Amino acid sequence: MKKVLVTGGTRGIGRDIAREFLKRGFFVCAAYSSDEESAAESAAEGIDVFRADVSDEAQVKALFGHVGNVDILVNNAGISLFKQIQDVSFGEWNRLFAVNVGGAFLCAREASRAMIEKKSGLIVNISSVWGEVGGSCESVYSASKAALLGFTKALAKELGPSGIRVNSVSPGVIDTRMNARLSDGDMEALREEIPLERIGRGEDVAKAVWFLYENDYVTGIDLPVNGGFSIV
Ligand code: NAD
Repeated sequence: MKKVLVTGGTRGIGRDIAREFLKRGFFVCAAYSSDEESAAESAAEGIDVFRADVSDEAQVKALFGHVGNVDILVNNAGISLFKQIQDVSFGEWNRLFAVNVGGAFLCAREASRAMIEKKSGLIVNISSVWGEVGGSCESVYSASKAALLGFTKALAKELGPSGIRVNSVSPGVIDTRMNARLSDGDMEALREEIPLERIGRGEDVAKAVWFLYENDYVTGIDLPVNGGFSIV
């Protein structure tokens, strides 16, 4: 049975990615950092859940000690920050980079060892529309997601000869807890800016990850999933 690890896989977008692979017969492990309630729900659905902070090297090693070799790694765990730059502390900058970029690095490094030996594997990094085009008052978040795009391209070149594909998916506005700070009015204003006239769903992103799994001649790309919110 093929094995997939989804970080931040017990809620929001990650949970829908985990479900997509579960329904297709994969062994799915979901890593999470908090929120025991959603972890318990995922476990009840048949997902193997493991608590690990992806920004912590020892916890990532423990995660891979638990899950073992994976065929697919989805680096989905992420945190956001909505603040003007003058109000952002260096600690906040470091935390965002440690989770959003450091976590992807640590997990990709662990996963790639066995993938290289097997000469096959897929890594998908969940970036963001703001990583592609930049978001006002989200400069740190945007920078961390742009870093993931560069990381994806470089790793695709490095690991391609070992049979490993590396791609990213950049969601637009998706209805999850990450956007809970937005009012109904904010969400409606955003919806009006989207050519497909609806806010995205986690399943939209999950389908994109599945597309990348199925298309085994695709590597080094970024796949926007944003309803046309940003067309570059
Ligand atoms: P969410 O807050 O619902 O889920 C985030 C998940 O990441 C949670 O499961 C959480 O436990 C996990 N997580 C956070 N910090 C972690 C850590 N240090 N270690 C391990 N797990 C950790 O948010 P979401 O909207 O589902 O976001 C999923 C991904 O999609 C994120 O990378 C986010 O940046 C990206 N994204 C979201 C949107 C959106 O509109 N919701 C848009 C673009 C990109």
